[in-house]
Amino acid sequence: MGEALTMREVWKANHRIQGIIDQTPLLFSEPLSERTGNHIYLKLENCQPTGAFKLRGAANKLLSLTAQERKKGVTTFSTGNHGIAVAYVAKQLDIEATICISNRVPKEKVNRLRRLGAHVKKVGENQDDAEAYCYGLEKKQGLFVIKPFDDIKVIAGQGTIGLEIMHQCPDVDQVVIPLSGGGLLTGIAFTLKSMIPEIHIQGVSMEASAVMHESLKKGTPITMKETETLADSLLGGLGPKNQHTFPLTQQYLDESLLVSEEMIEKGILFMMEFHKMIIEGAAAAGIGKVLKDTQAKGRNVVIIVSGNNIDHATIQQLI
Ligand SMILES: *Cc1c(COP(=O)(O)O)cnc(C)c1O
Repeated sequence: MGEALTMREVWKANHRIQGIIDQTPLLFSEPLSERTGNHIYLKLENCQPTGAFKLRGAANKLLSLTAQERKKGVTTFSTGNHGIAVAYVAKQLDIEATICISNRVPKEKVNRLRRLGAHVKKVGENQDDAEAYCYGLEKKQGLFVIKPFDDIKVIAGQGTIGLEIMHQCPDVDQVVIPLSGGGLLTGIAFTLKSMIPEIHIQGVSMEASAVMHESLKKGTPITMKETETLADSLLGGLGPKNQHTFPLTQQYLDESLLVSEEMIEKGILFMMEFHKMIIEGAAAAGIGKVLKDTQAKGRNVVIIVSGNNIDHATIQQLI
């Protein structure tokens, strides 16, 4: 029997993860509002202790494991914000975490994971090798795989952002959400639509490899080749047997939009210049999209600023 996403799950997640996550600020952006004619608010998930919202889903999932599951340890194959979040929460809960990565992952990232106390297992030449190895660990050693998005507990964890938005801006008309696997979008959209059915949910992906965008058009999950993008946290497929996030995205998303690399870059620079914050490409997608939206009409728009995991070299290049 599969679990279902319910408001009770989201409220339970909210209760569970306090103490690990921070409730993040909702910042009114005067410069973005002035430029666009809407009232623009920024939900600053870049202010989480790990620098991204993924902490919410990972915390909810790890805190939901049984004592036996915790004892065996957990594993995952993400090198980005999800891997960091799993390592961070596992350390706090005294759970052993093994992060499987390919040999091509930069040293900087490996060191960060090791500093968080995780075992780092290097295998193969690409992400698929790491993923296969990770599921091998599940089979052979009974480690619990913490999926990055296609899991009800993870989705409910991300949904707690919706509860905070409801509290901080109950008059919200529209939410702009970076979109990859869809855990972030479906969690927030499900939560807010249960209270505000007429709210408008926009998903934003980069033009480069917009897997969810193309899958929605086709009506079924597809695979695509990855191209280089500033929004690297939005790369990756929907998983071979997507159970939850694809159908939920079909149900709860109102509009799927693409953002060019140029606009993502403008989004990053806008945050630096006007709000003195450094954010990553994926998090700047919504800002880039809104900067182009010039026929606005006084609506209350919340943009999810999803994370800050950007490397020095990229920042230097952009400046
Ligand atoms: C993972 C991630 C996203 C996309 O979240 P999904 O749940 O995969 O759609 C967006 N921004 C950042 C910074 C991320 O790490």
